[in-house]
Amino acid sequence: MVKPSHSYDVVIVGGGPCGLATALRLVKNAFRVAVIEKGSYLQPRIGEHLPSSAMSVLQELGISDICNDATGHLRCSGVMSWWGNENTPHELNYFYHPFGHGLNLSRPHFDRQFADHVRQHDAVILEHAKVQQQRLTSAGWFIDISTEEGHHCVEAQFVLDASGKSASFSRMQASHIIALDAQIALIRHYQGCVGPSDDRTDHILIESCEIGWWYFAPLDDNQGICMLITDPDLIDLRKRSINDSWHAALDNTHAIAPMLRSFAAMTEPVVCSARSQRLDHFFGERWLAIGDAAMAFDPLSSQGIIKGLRQGWKAGQIVSKYLAGETAAIAHFSQDLEAIFSEYVTTRSGYYATEQRWADSLFWRRRHPSVCRC
Ligand SMILES: Cc1cc2nc3c(=O)[nH]c(=O)nc-3n(C[C@H](O)[C@H](O)[C@H](O)COP(=O)(O)OP(=O)(O)OC[C@H]3O[C@@H](n4cnc5c(N)ncnc54)[C@H](O)[C@@H]3O)c2cc1C
Repeated sequence: MVKPSHSYDVVIVGGGPCGLATALRLVKNAFRVAVIEKGSYLQPRIGEHLPSSAMSVLQELGISDICNDATGHLRCSGVMSWWGNENTPHELNYFYHPFGHGLNLSRPHFDRQFADHVRQHDAVILEHAKVQQQRLTSAGWFIDISTEEGHHCVEAQFVLDASGKSASFSRMQASHIIALDAQIALIRHYQGCVGPSDDRTDHILIESCEIGWWYFAPLDDNQGICMLITDPDLIDLRKRSINDSWHAALDNTHAIAPMLRSFAAMTEPVVCSARSQRLDHFFGERWLAIGDAAMAFDPLSSQGIIKGLRQGWKAGQIVSKYLAGETAAIAHFSQDLEAIFSEYVTTRSGYYATEQRWADSLFWRRRHPSVCRC
């Protein structure tokens, strides 16, 4: 490794919602921070819905202004779900929440706006950047980073891994990913999704089916995103079959299919992981994992972004304490993460237990704890 060209108090690997929230907290606490982001805020990103409970988190972080209607994100009135029966939808109406609405973010636009905001507070964000090597010495970390301009080495007192589900830095520290399932999402974008006068196009829609469940979210600019969540062994994902698989599953829905009929598909179905996972340990000497790198939730929860923002903001405080000499702060925070994950597992199980219509379906049997795991 070459001599360090820059010295930071904290390096954050990953500039998604969680990494950016951490960076913002740390720079506000007067620490020197660099975020190493492998992308450029131009590539598509997954996850758009923020429930109304997220609005107070945006306010606490001071970023609610970047999420108002004028900036390309859509207000969302609630969630309609056909779960447990096909006739009577359950409606969660955000009107009754103090903030009165949720948001369907346009991503990566949100991440880019957030990154610009964090830069204005003097954090360095290196795009197209990746950690190539790292070495921990008594003086701190020496991190070799590759960017489009070449390689350089930076020095840091502490590293936060906010690299999402890949948990790339933590895995370099011999932390292992524990997957709870193999769940995937088939994702497709639509246009011509007019609203918001019609309930169906200003609500999130969720509908369970024999091999999983469907999700639709209206987005800004009359666009929408639709997903089928299932297990990879329950659907034919071969390139030549994926369209047929999509339509075969869609044809069995009662709410989603009729609504999509008037919308135009913009993309073919794309597959991504939607599994629940966690790391076997969240921290080590002078490093800590947060957000999806530490633990990733089922999209059913719609909690991934808000969890990332909350954990990032809190981790910024915790690392500030650590750097001020309170070294036990990291282990205490890790105990909080353990409690969050354990509560999540219980809640997820409770949600899936309320759908009992397909007793023979592998998808549902795998999620009903009282039944054998197949
Ligand atoms: C199908 C699906 C639907 C979802 N829907 C929702 C939803 O509606 N609402 C919701 O709240 N959540 C949703 N989620 C979850 C949500 O997307 C994530 O929980 C959230 O984005 C996590 O934020 P994060 O910052 O921890 O990680 P990420 O958003 O994954 O950010 C990680 C960042 O790290 C960067 N990175 C990765 N590896 C490296 C590396 N080696 N070096 C440098 N940088 C790296 C990435 O480019 C990225 O910018 C969904 C997830 C899935 C799978």
